[in-house]
Amino acid sequence: KEKMKRRMESGDKWFSLEFFPPRTAQGAVNLISRFDRMGAGGPLFIDVTWHPAGDPGSDKETSSMVIASTAVNYCGLETILHMTCCHQSREEITGHLHKAKQLGLKNILALRGGRRNREATWRLGETQHCDLNPADPIGDQWEEEEGGFNYAADLVKHIRGEFGDYFDICVAGYPKGHPDAESFEADLMHLKEKVAAGADFIITQLFFEADTFFRFFKACSEMGITCPILPGIFPIQGYHSLRQLVKLSKLEVPQQIKDVIEPIKDNDAAIRNYGIEQAVSLCRELLESGLVPGLHFYTLNREVATMEVLKRLGMWIEDPRRPLPWAISAHPKRRE
Ligand code: FAD
Repeated sequence: KEKMKRRMESGDKWFSLEFFPPRTAQGAVNLISRFDRMGAGGPLFIDVTWHPAGDPGSDKETSSMVIASTAVNYCGLETILHMTCCHQSREEITGHLHKAKQLGLKNILALRGGRRNREATWRLGETQHCDLNPADPIGDQWEEEEGGFNYAADLVKHIRGEFGDYFDICVAGYPKGHPDAESFEADLMHLKEKVAAGADFIITQLFFEADTFFRFFKACSEMGITCPILPGIFPIQGYHSLRQLVKLSKLEVPQQIKDVIEPIKDNDAAIRNYGIEQAVSLCRELLESGLVPGLHFYTLNREVATMEVLKRLGMWIEDPRRPLPWAISAHPKRRE
């Protein structure tokens, strides 16, 4: 954890990678070998998303935790576990946090969450061409509950109150404002509340243009938000997955990107190549600005595009001396 903090503040540019827990045992096996391959490039951390209670089918909280714990204890990767708080009791949340601690997890991305959005992202990640039922309402279906954990700030306060400094805490930021927010300014105020409650850094929602991030960064500074802000990068990997993702996240794709991808929408290879080039140029602008401590990639559990972007940026550094995963997990210090 200390090593992560030092590197985050060192001025060296680094990257991190988001994954979601798969639904099947075979998916879990594939993901763990992907951790090993992608871990070889030297991410500062990986993070594992959290799926709200009530999703049909299985115990998603446990699978997020099992995958995150495997990443730390078997693959030797610094890992952040996402955790949402809405529609869950104080006891359930405290139970999840104790379990995360027992499993050796030391970093939490504290979120409000919603009921459905990530379950759909899941389907999006696993099938390139999935179509959500157009009749499905898209969005969080979040409802305020009296006395409940209604906002991410409630979770941040709870973690600090119950666990002190044991966990490093990250929170989500929205360069264009959260879609439900009263206004961009109101959303920034709420972001500031999350940081004041004890968050250490911010990861942003994905965005497509460097200026969007620069405006957000400036507004955060003016508001007195001074912690590190890590930009969320999404290399476009397919026409349909992009459409669904922006619909779920209620984002707008800029016209100049639409103009390029519409004519090539049936050519997966061409879209992927464009996505890589677009992400590389966005990342270069962000890195050259000197404002970002590193880059955070939404991988959708795929590796080719993200790896290629990092290689072109010269940030993918395979270290043959890095110990193999089993050597790390067998090390007594990791068992503490
Ligand atoms: P909050 O910070 O609580 O904000 C939610 C809304 O409430 C905003 O509009 C804010 O302005 C407003 N608000 C905040 N405080 C107050 C207040 N006191 N009074 C009035 N309004 C207020 N979802 C998942 O289910 N699982 C995941 O793993 C997951 N990972 C994510 C990772 C990242 C980096 C991001 C950007 C999003 C992720 N999400 C995930 C989606 C997220 O749960 C939704 O975007 C959710 O709608 C908001 O979560 P939040 O933590 O940003 O909420």
